[in-house]
Amino acid sequence: MNQSAVPDVSPATLEVVPLGGLGEFGMNMMAVSWEDTTILIDAGVMFPDPDQLGVDLIIPDLTYVEARGDKVKALILTHGHEDHIGAVPHVLERFDGPVYGTAMTLALIVPKLEEHGIDAGDRLKTVKPGDTIVVGPLSVEFIRVTHSMPDCVALAITSPAGTIVHTGDFKIDQTPIDGEHFDLHRFAELGARGVLALFGDSTNVDRKGFTGPEIEVIDAFEELFTSTEGKLVVALFSSSIYRMQLLVDLAVQFERKVAFVGRSIVRNAEIAQRLGFLRVPAGIQIRDAEVPEYASQDVLCLATGSQGEPQAALSRISIDDHRFVHLGEDDTVVFSARAIPGNEKAIARTMSHVARRGADVVTDSMKHVHVSGHGSAEELKLVLSLVRPRYFVPIHGEFRQLSQHAKMARQVMSGLEPPLQVLLAQDGDIVQFDARGARIADKAPAGRVLIDVTRIGEVGDEVLRDRRHLAADGVVIAVVAIGRQSGALVGEPELVARGFVFGEDEERAMFKDASGVITGCIEASSVEERADQGLMTEKLRGELRRFFKKRSGRRPLVLPVLMEI
Ligand SMILES: [Zn+2]
Ligand SMILES: [Zn+2]
Repeated sequence: MNQSAVPDVSPATLEVVPLGGLGEFGMNMMAVSWEDTTILIDAGVMFPDPDQLGVDLIIPDLTYVEARGDKVKALILTHGHEDHIGAVPHVLERFDGPVYGTAMTLALIVPKLEEHGIDAGDRLKTVKPGDTIVVGPLSVEFIRVTHSMPDCVALAITSPAGTIVHTGDFKIDQTPIDGEHFDLHRFAELGARGVLALFGDSTNVDRKGFTGPEIEVIDAFEELFTSTEGKLVVALFSSSIYRMQLLVDLAVQFERKVAFVGRSIVRNAEIAQRLGFLRVPAGIQIRDAEVPEYASQDVLCLATGSQGEPQAALSRISIDDHRFVHLGEDDTVVFSARAIPGNEKAIARTMSHVARRGADVVTDSMKHVHVSGHGSAEELKLVLSLVRPRYFVPIHGEFRQLSQHAKMARQVMSGLEPPLQVLLAQDGDIVQFDARGARIADKAPAGRVLIDVTRIGEVGDEVLRDRRHLAADGVVIAVVAIGRQSGALVGEPELVARGFVFGEDEERAMFKDASGVITGCIEASSVEERADQGLMTEKLRGELRRFFKKRSGRRPLVLPVLMEI
């Protein structure tokens, strides 16, 4: 890695380098340095576009972090959303210090570390809103904010050059579901004391007014609980703990049992209950396997799959491929989440599948079943007015949102003395604060690293590991042609192997049988499944992996290529 491209931190200067989230939505990360001390704020991921084949996740380029080496003393987390914690396992491998976060945030990291086989030992340090920690010349205060999940904080970081405030993600929910209020007082106190710079969430800068509290969706759901004669299935993000609480409470009121359906939602509900952020009265919760035992009008399912992800619970349910949850005429499926750009097609397909089952589909354009977790224009203005920073740096957004937030800040702060100065920074910009003022001084390496979670690891960066893996078990590519209309197999599947060494006869026999596995798998799938390329690819990959494992004892990289002709 070319470390000479990373400039040294200037003496007696507070340097802030956004490594992600300024110029795109997602992969939020920032480095804050004073001389020999660097702290990192958040380490998030971004999800790839559907056309970035073979890429599961995108994380920030960590060249800067590596170049800082043992000067990186701590990682500080604002909250537990994937765009803030998804890259923690990758970052943890690159420095030695502690990770500070609230109980909920850290609890969501633990299963990630386990998946990566990382033993964090005693590096995870739980903090509470109101706490202050000291890292060398920097102190970090955690301030409670409200958002779409519990236990979220903003940060006030004090350095010899002054205090900077990082809002994290927030909206101002004045009737929070858990009764834990946005600490407006502390923002005002810091503002009165004098804040050098504010780094503010820009996600919803283009929405007028106020975003609205989480409880706002109760009315729509009350209607749905009343009008649905069969099962009620609500698809939501597995981190939407507040939404889960609200739905559990309604289920109690309307005498339905609650089943969490899908791996990540089961896990997060369990974590949230253990920590006391989700309260489910005794006798309410059932396992998904128990759903068939109850009359459908007595059941509420909270499921993964609001984005049409092929392996998620709702996708399986929608093509009648779930073991326990089946949809019928009287049932209603609610999409209680926004569509992340890029997922629209997959979501629409899932909706059509649901409709084919005869169930009703409800989206947030039909009823108010979703509310954003990010503050709209008036909330952003309020925070600016309270903090009254000397400098303002918009964060979390594409350049369009950042520049609109900059414009808004100038408007809000106009006439103040000394006048506000806006620094419109992007990923990699080195923002300096010192006795002479503030400026974007230089550029550090920044960008995106593409990750293939299933097999390969960092694409481009960990070639050696790939090679070891491929050398051990090889690769099998299965080219499968299916008819666009019928979804039926066209011709014979074609298999190509590399580094998967067997005798010629043995290989021919094995491929013949593998071809049979493919044919069987496609014939056993419903017409709807066959029309879903993502789902079929996953299904074939799984079946072929099992086949090769059983037949050869090896685990080659299996790449099914589905062609519609
Ligand atoms: Zn968030
Ligand atoms: Zn976020």
